[in-house]
Amino acid sequence: MTASRILLLVLDGISDRPCRELGHLTPLQAANTPVLDRIAREGICGIMDTIGAGVRPGSDTSHLSLLGYDPKSCYTGRGPLEALGCGIRMEPGMIGFRCNYATIGSDGRVLDRRAGRIHRTQPLSEAIEEGVDLSSLGVSFVFRSGAGHRAALALKGNRLGANVSSNDPKKEGLFPMQVRPLTEREEDRRTADACNEFVRQSKEVLEKHPLNRERIARGEPPANLVLVRGAGEMGHIEPFGERYGLEGSVISAAALVTGIGRAVGLEHVSVEGATGSMDTNLEGKVRAAIGELGRREFVLMNIKGADEASHDGLAREKAAFIERIDASLQPLEELEGVLLVICGDHSTPCAIREHSADPVPVVIHGDGVRTDGVASFDEISCANGGLHRISGLSLMPIALDLINKAHKYGA
Ligand code: ZN
Ligand code: ZN
Repeated sequence: MTASRILLLVLDGISDRPCRELGHLTPLQAANTPVLDRIAREGICGIMDTIGAGVRPGSDTSHLSLLGYDPKSCYTGRGPLEALGCGIRMEPGMIGFRCNYATIGSDGRVLDRRAGRIHRTQPLSEAIEEGVDLSSLGVSFVFRSGAGHRAALALKGNRLGANVSSNDPKKEGLFPMQVRPLTEREEDRRTADACNEFVRQSKEVLEKHPLNRERIARGEPPANLVLVRGAGEMGHIEPFGERYGLEGSVISAAALVTGIGRAVGLEHVSVEGATGSMDTNLEGKVRAAIGELGRREFVLMNIKGADEASHDGLAREKAAFIERIDASLQPLEELEGVLLVICGDHSTPCAIREHSADPVPVVIHGDGVRTDGVASFDEISCANGGLHRISGLSLMPIALDLINKAHKYGA
């Protein structure tokens, strides 16, 4: 029986380089991963440049590519995606920003860019939505809290540009900056003006908010400034359902990946205890994915924790988390009629604590899939697989072919 549904499981930042503390093995090689290895043995493996050889991918651009959308024409900056991830309905032409709640001192300098890693900021964001008014500039806005100290802003109005700077000084101890237009265009000046007015008015709202008064009384840094950055204009992206004839869901705790999923028209499914960190509820996510596959033809699931460990340079912790991922994937082996695609979105070598252009391992498993000689899911073994070296943009076409949803090219 040919599979009729696809589960695309992206193990964020799982791919690595040899690590000295692991005896010059990669964390994937060093970890004991019986489930992933079995899937590799029964499936077809390869390595993949998620965007292109030598290109260091962001998680956003790589996920777009894995979903078959060329980031070179679809990517509009992080702001709109973060806004979508925070639940803002972005329409074409709206300008999105990613934001931080921050703390400034009495002299106006930024003391903490994350406001003491504040969380549950919904009351602050609601007060800002109610108290800030940009209508004199011909602009309306939506402002929503994200995870922790994060939030997102979306501006809507006639002729707004996205070429503007940030007010974030990027370092503590410095003054926040004015948002500036980066071109001479009137559109960009209008956006910069709206941002500066938003920052000014939201600061007034935050200063008198009871939640901040309570924080100061407890000796905690108040969230008394919004830092805005990552401006981008929401474009039109062909919906996933129209492009592929598949309805799909996205399961992810990372706002950026959720935003990508929403941007292409996947429905976000939230999972209790999913944190986007190493303490996440892996079993719950896997259960949710299996549930979604009962009613949808496509599910994108992102597991973030290994990327986080890599950015902190923690190779042993990364290997240990990979073992936890592996154990949680066991229920996937029972799935029938599902094409299972497992890959990384980029490498994040612990040694450099940043994304790199090294290709990632990929395995495709399901009825009718040819097998190869690969018996272990890791960067080095998969390089010997039957898929050889593919690009991220090829992944969806290959998967669609395997579920008989590809169209013939030619007669
Ligand atoms: Zn990533
Ligand atoms: Zn990362």
